[in-house]
Order: sequence, then C-alpha cells, then structure tokens
Amino acid sequence: MSAPRKLVLASGNPGKIREFQQLLGSGWRLIAQSALGVLPIAETGTSFCANALLKARHASAVTRLPALADDSGIEVDALNGAPGVYSARYAGADVLDAANNEKLLAELAGVPAAQRTARYRCCLVFVRDAEDESPLFAEGVWEGRIAESCRGTEGFGYDPVFIDIESGKHAASMEPAEKNRRSHRQAALRRLQEMLSKLD
Ligand code: IMP
Repeated sequence: MSAPRKLVLASGNPGKIREFQQLLGSGWRLIAQSALGVLPIAETGTSFCANALLKARHASAVTRLPALADDSGIEVDALNGAPGVYSARYAGADVLDAANNEKLLAELAGVPAAQRTARYRCCLVFVRDAEDESPLFAEGVWEGRIAESCRGTEGFGYDPVFIDIESGKHAASMEPAEKNRRSHRQAALRRLQEMLSKLD
C-alpha cells in the first residue's frame, strides 16, 4: 500500500481537521497550515469559492504541498443574501457569535416566518499546487430559516438561530452527529472526496 499523500489544510481549527481527515480517509494525510508556519491571509473575495481559492493557493505557495481550503457562511433571503462572506464579522471584527446572532435577529424583526428562509453554504477548493489551472471546487448547502430567538447550546456561530428545514430543530439543539449528517460542510466534503478519488 502506498504512503498517504500530504495535503495542507488552510485552517488551524482542530475540529475542522478532524472532520476533514475522517472523510478523506487514509489515502491523505492532512496537515494544518498553522503547523507549517503558514499565516492566515485576508479574505478579500466576494464569494465563498473566491475566498477558499485565495486561501488554498496561499497555503500551497508557502508549503509547496497540495492544499485544501474551505469558506462558509450563512445567506438570508430577506437580507438579499447577507451576511454571506461577512458572516464571521457581521456585527464587527472579532465579535462574539452572540453579537452576530443579535444583529441578525434585530435586522429580521417583524419579518414573518415564511420570509425568514436562509441557508448555510460551504465551498471547498483543492489545488495541486499554487498555480493549479484547474482547481477542484465542491459546494454544499443546508436549507433552513432564521428563528425568532436563540435556542440550544451545541455547535457554534449562527446555530442557535438557524432552524433545519427538515426537522424543524435549531442547529444548536442537534447532536454533533445529527448536525454533521445535514451540514453544508459535510455535503461539500462528500462531493470533494468523490472528485479526489478519481484523481491519479
Ligand atoms: P468559516 O469560513 O467556516 O470559518 O465560517 C465563517 C462563519 O460562518 C463562521 O464564523 C460562522 O459565523 C458561520 N458559519 C459557518 N458554518 C457554520 C455552521 O456550521 N454553524 C454556524 N455558523 C457557521
């Protein structure tokens, strides 16, 4: 059996590394960019895929390894897709998740349930090297709607205000395994894993 191929992940988040490694399996060895001295770059793109591509090319340029990057966030229809790529900094730079959730609930005050539709979106990008002319892109979405108030203690980010369209549960009230089965990141990962399995 051949040795696993090294792949740098353009993230320092240990939770993400575990999640991604599990799905990619033993053919790949994921290494966090932080472990290789890669500093995060500014996410200046106007779409999730543009940001993920920036991050993947940067990680690959510094490490000279193939790279994987993800970018994700929440899109609210009544706000014309906001906060979108600004999800992490919706209420300002370096704010707590609770501040972002409060701002979102305030922006949607008075909007009826039927018009509170929203989705999480994740874009994953794989590059063979920093100049790769045909990167692999995989997107995943999770449809839901924005609640009237926060509920639940699991998860992170917008999970207390995001209601899964199928089960009617707040994402922050779902067990991690249940959230994973529904999640935008897992859907994108499954797509990417399929593409990677066809690479030679
Ligand atoms: P990142 O690009 O994965 O770091 O995510 C950017 C932002 O999107 C996070 O800071 C969260 O606010 C939001 N986000 C992305 N995925 C999720 C999720 O699964 N649950 C809750 N919030 C999320």
